[in-house]
Amino acid sequence: HHHIDHASVPKIQAAIDAGATHPIIPNYQGFEAYQSEGGYATLRQLRKSGDWQNVQEQIKEAGLRGLGGAGFPSGTKWGFVRANDGPRYLAVNGDEGEPGTFKDRQVLEQTPHLFLEGMLIAAWAIEAETCFIYLRDEYPAAREVLRQEIARLEAEGIVAPGYIDLRRGAGAYICGEESAMIESIEGKRGLPRHRPPFVAQVGVFDRPTLVHNIETLYWVARILREGAQVLNATQKNGRTGLRNYSVSGRVAKPGVYLLPAGSTILDIIDAAGGMAQGHSFKAYQPGGPSSGLLPASLNAVPLDFDTLQEHGTFIGSAAVVVLSDHDSARGAALNMMRFFEDESCGQCTPCRVGCEKAVKLMQADRWDQDLLEELSQTMVDASICGLGQAAPNCLRLTMKHFPDEV
Ligand code: SF4
Repeated sequence: HHHIDHASVPKIQAAIDAGATHPIIPNYQGFEAYQSEGGYATLRQLRKSGDWQNVQEQIKEAGLRGLGGAGFPSGTKWGFVRANDGPRYLAVNGDEGEPGTFKDRQVLEQTPHLFLEGMLIAAWAIEAETCFIYLRDEYPAAREVLRQEIARLEAEGIVAPGYIDLRRGAGAYICGEESAMIESIEGKRGLPRHRPPFVAQVGVFDRPTLVHNIETLYWVARILREGAQVLNATQKNGRTGLRNYSVSGRVAKPGVYLLPAGSTILDIIDAAGGMAQGHSFKAYQPGGPSSGLLPASLNAVPLDFDTLQEHGTFIGSAAVVVLSDHDSARGAALNMMRFFEDESCGQCTPCRVGCEKAVKLMQADRWDQDLLEELSQTMVDASICGLGQAAPNCLRLTMKHFPDEV
């Protein structure tokens, strides 16, 4: 299932030309094909005679961490949720809103049942009453795939009707923040909550809730079927495991690349066919706009969880965006800050006013760097959620690494 269908874009265009209507459903592995290669055998066996702590051990052994961006150890999270009395819920974060991230989409459009079985295994492990899937509104094809395949699971008797509740987002970036997503699932405006309490204790409808990203659950299914080594056997640059990097920008072949977690930006550009013709490597976002911009000179650092802290950023959802000599770092930073200004939920002042103020200051011919630094620190210290805390990364890293441009 590692085939990367780079040809899908022209194929979709051809389908449109041939009169296909929206959404165009991609070729994906359906229920029969999945079952014939052993799909759902693990789930059936676990439901019959499984020990959840045994499963938790395998997840821990594999080193699986939350692939939505936070990187929290998945097995540990199951324990936190289980520690609270039921009823408990599972909420799948399928918002995939970080610009440049499209790995979850690939899972849904190619191997939806690996995700669905992983979800049902996690739901079994925490004895979830219901599974909510919060899906990005901009993925109509994935939504249709899931709708059909969930109906199939109901028809096969693998889940009771209504057990999987597929919810449609409405295009708000902030609804990818887990507590805002939960508010949205409850039918309210997507405003992030203060923590504590954590969603493992007080989540959907105030019940203990396990929140997992789509790709994380895909790996749950694979670890249980293929063993922990499917993830933990790969070593590179002192890092363990594999990472699906969504690669876009000035590379020859944008796409999702499954590479060792210790890959550097040069390895990633290489996997993506090198730089696009006529472009030379200048800078990159290691994990979407939330991670800001790093210079091409920082090209030896493994792009994994915990490796970018000393550089003032993080890998997040591994949305690698490559910039070239045709791009301005300053312009890219302003573009990122405008995005955060638009997407700030407005609940707290440091973020709502801070993003707006930053955009104004970043439009000046020369940036007032002292003032921008003071503003950045205030946003980091006083914003309620990760949006306001991470928004200044783009301007701080641009001031640090591209001083000539600002
Ligand atoms: Fe909303 Fe921004 Fe505050 Fe987060 S930091 S709660 S997005 S205003």
